[in-house]
Amino acid sequence: MNLIILGLPGAGKGTQAKKLSNKYSIPHISTGDIFRSAIKNETELGKKAKQIIDSGGLVPDEITNDIVKERIKLDDCNNGFILDGYPRTIYQAEALETMLEEMNKELDLALYINVSRDELIKRLTHRRTCSNCGAIYHLDYKPPKKEGICDKCGGKLIQRSDDKEKVVNERLKLNKENLMKLIEFYKKRSKLITVKSDAGINEVFDKINDIIKEHVK
Ligand code: AMP
Repeated sequence: MNLIILGLPGAGKGTQAKKLSNKYSIPHISTGDIFRSAIKNETELGKKAKQIIDSGGLVPDEITNDIVKERIKLDDCNNGFILDGYPRTIYQAEALETMLEEMNKELDLALYINVSRDELIKRLTHRRTCSNCGAIYHLDYKPPKKEGICDKCGGKLIQRSDDKEKVVNERLKLNKENLMKLIEFYKKRSKLITVKSDAGINEVFDKINDIIKEHVK
């Protein structure tokens, strides 16, 4: 099953993708996670991406497309993958289409998780991420047992630099323009399914599973 999860930052793409990855045993590929890991490890990619990400911009399409192309070629994607945070532009969507064609693969669905703007701002600015294992918490909805400490690995919880309020507004604006174009792109190809999602994590996950049962053979 080859899936794309679309939605504005904070819509819960990562959370749902992780759950789907566990359930269907296919990798969750998040371009944001790949860039954050490169920044942490101070690689060449990390050095290029850091400034862009900190200011809420987008990493150039060519760089991002190459990363995804190499990643989905790996054997663990033979039974499928879940792309989270990619594509983010029409140019990336077209590049993905070409990549899949070259690999004789087909996209099954583009799931759009649709959340209201007020809810997104609350979710993003109150989100905390484990600096060690990447686990995600929320100060209101899913607080850690001990303040500032990851329940899973004991790592330090941090606020992503791009989750700060000023950057969040910039990210939402930029992402919204691109997202609307992507929605049209996948609508035209009859791949788009929308999940309304101000609800809780498990409720949304159940809705997504119903959609997969109905639409993915
Ligand atoms: P995310 O974790 O998906 O919100 O991504 C965090 C940041 O990484 C974004 O704000 C962008 O700066 C960068 N990024 C992630 N995915 C992409 C992409 N597909 N194209 C360009 N930049 C990206």
